[in-house]
Amino acid sequence: MTAPAARILDGRALAGRIESSLRQEVETFASMFGRKPRLVVVLVGDMAASGSYVKSKAAAAARVGMESTVLPVAATATTGELVALVKAIARDEHGHADGILVQLPLPPHVDTVAVLDAVPADRDVDGFHPENAGLLSQGRPRFIPCTAAGVQRMLIDAAIPTAGKHVVIVGRSDIVGKPLALLLAQRPPLGCPADGTGGCDATVTICHSRSGDIGHFTRQADIVVAAVGKPQLITADMVRPGAAVIDVGINRVDGKLVGDVDYGPVSEVAGWISPVPGGVGPMTVAMLIANTLLAAELRLGRR
Ligand code: NDP
Repeated sequence: MTAPAARILDGRALAGRIESSLRQEVETFASMFGRKPRLVVVLVGDMAASGSYVKSKAAAAARVGMESTVLPVAATATTGELVALVKAIARDEHGHADGILVQLPLPPHVDTVAVLDAVPADRDVDGFHPENAGLLSQGRPRFIPCTAAGVQRMLIDAAIPTAGKHVVIVGRSDIVGKPLALLLAQRPPLGCPADGTGGCDATVTICHSRSGDIGHFTRQADIVVAAVGKPQLITADMVRPGAAVIDVGINRVDGKLVGDVDYGPVSEVAGWISPVPGGVGPMTVAMLIANTLLAAELRLGRR
């Protein structure tokens, strides 16, 4: 008898539902304050992938009735010039900027940390500022990095238990792996549901490039999250039958987008699986829009 195929974690559909409710909240905001929340994005250089991510963020903002502006900057811009631009945006010199985002990666000659640190913590809708990282690590998050928030939301929406479960995250970046580990391991802010489906109270293992045999860890996991950027890193023999597998990776292979998970064979073993494309990617964008609304509400004292 063959095992049933994994349930698909459809991030696109969930993001669509989240956008619908955000659209209503944006309408309420606009009628209260006489203006819409606004996101300002700095796009440095002409990398095709960055351009397409920025386009999808602007399109999502438009779908929920928010304003957004993309400020294109030459790839030759220096760290000083980018820091000065971010500070000018924060002074609303490019129109009111409730949320400010610098699209990554920046060119190698730029000090990325210096540029990101110039984004004021209370407009940092990517959640990368040290103040926001600190608040998350203390269990009182303000802006949660969008991909981590999106993965947590997918787990909650699918009612996949996390309390007392073992989550193995492959990848330890400040953008994905680390904040997701903090989020899933945190004490429940409002109390976890009795069935443990609150996206918290997990036991988390973080793997990285020096972990050796990562299959040794992933095989013990109730939930595997792959956030590396290597196609077919997670194969079927590395997944415990019935586990949830969340694929954050984005790779281009022969002109096609693929994740870090060997999708076909793994979906024969896993209990749940998120596809690429159509999984975590749309959730990341939806969480960015939610963070922008939150930033606008904080700014105008609605929260
Ligand atoms: P980084 O390059 O910053 O981090 C990658 C991590 O993977 C590092 O911690 C690295 O370890 C680890 N790693 C590298 N090779 C291995 C290996 N062989 N075994 C185990 N761990 C390994 O990437 P990001 O976190 O920014 O992004 C990860 C992936 O997620 C990329 O494909 C990116 O495009 C994608 N992404 C997708 C998003 C979405 O919305 N779907 C959003 C953001 C990113 P070490 O620290 O030791 O170097």
